[in-house]
Amino acid sequence: MNRYPQVTVDLKKLLHNVKEVVALGKASQVEITGIIKGFTGIPEASLMFQKGGCTMVGSSRLEQLERAKEIGVTIPLMLIRIPMLSEIEEAVKVADSSLNSEREVLEALNKEAGKQGKNHGVILMADLGDLREGFWDKEELINTASYVENNLKNLTLLGIGTNVGCYGSVAATPSKLQELVDLKDDVEKEIGRPLKIVSGGATSSIPRLMENNMPEGINNIRVGEGIILAKDLRDLYGYDMSFMYQDVFTLKAEVIEIKTKPSYPQGEIMFDAFGNKPEYVDIGVRKRGLLAMGKVDYGYLENIYPRMKGVKVLGASSDHTIIDIEDVEEDIKIGDILEFDLSYASIVFVTNCENVRIVIKE
Ligand SMILES: *Cc1c(COP(=O)(O)O)cnc(C)c1O
Repeated sequence: MNRYPQVTVDLKKLLHNVKEVVALGKASQVEITGIIKGFTGIPEASLMFQKGGCTMVGSSRLEQLERAKEIGVTIPLMLIRIPMLSEIEEAVKVADSSLNSEREVLEALNKEAGKQGKNHGVILMADLGDLREGFWDKEELINTASYVENNLKNLTLLGIGTNVGCYGSVAATPSKLQELVDLKDDVEKEIGRPLKIVSGGATSSIPRLMENNMPEGINNIRVGEGIILAKDLRDLYGYDMSFMYQDVFTLKAEVIEIKTKPSYPQGEIMFDAFGNKPEYVDIGVRKRGLLAMGKVDYGYLENIYPRMKGVKVLGASSDHTIIDIEDVEEDIKIGDILEFDLSYASIVFVTNCENVRIVIKE
């Protein structure tokens, strides 16, 4: 039985997007690590990253990497959040490499890798100003690189990386990324050999590929949003992203009530279901619909976009979404299914919600 709400994943469109970004990277000698955390690591979708030419698959969550492995992803898996000390055993078991910034964690990884008779790859993160993860002190990074290289025999220093545009909203400009290349030169001088990976950011570094100004030396980026949605570069940066599908994911919800009601609440206005006091605008009596899905399913109602012309999202509580359908030409009936586009933030929610069925479209 078809149950709602539902999120459908169009694998053909996803594969197209993966291939486009991989081709963009190839033109600048940049390999793509496909990041699967944006869709909670849906295994069938993770497989498309491999099929489309990514050289690695990465996630911040080990359980997602584990599921990727189970479905048959055979390219190296990268843990892109600094490993927790409490997950070191799993991290070594599941991930081939991880992003790192703490000596204590590196020691633990080395010890565990020895125990498991394995070698674990390490990328040291440099914080170039975005103020999330990474070494702030460049000397400390260089010294740690040397320490991993010479003292931690169960670890392989694969390279260095950075992350921008996540907390501090710092842009991945050519000069910002050149800082990473300069640091790579310093590390290479210290350890006396070239590094294999220089990972220059995430989706926000794709403009460097499109404008052909990625600093030489950067040979990897880790891309999630720019593949699964490709909306940020269009909406926030103004790039033409028409070569990518923005509708890989579709949220579907069922209509459970259609009535004509006033637009302004009747009675003394206090608080809504979440303790807020929203503003209501009186625009008279309107035809409205009620959908059987709510904030529990998708997080924030600003992040779902009705595909049918004239449908306006008015508000939501945990399990209900209220829509204005006065201006809709079609005849919406009880039991009809309405479709929504999603944002990166709402894809994470709907794919993570046990009430939302995930439907794979081959
Ligand atoms: C989430 C994440 C990415 C991917 O970011 P997008 O903007 O979705 O491409 C890359 N690197 C790290 C460390 C991340 O946490």
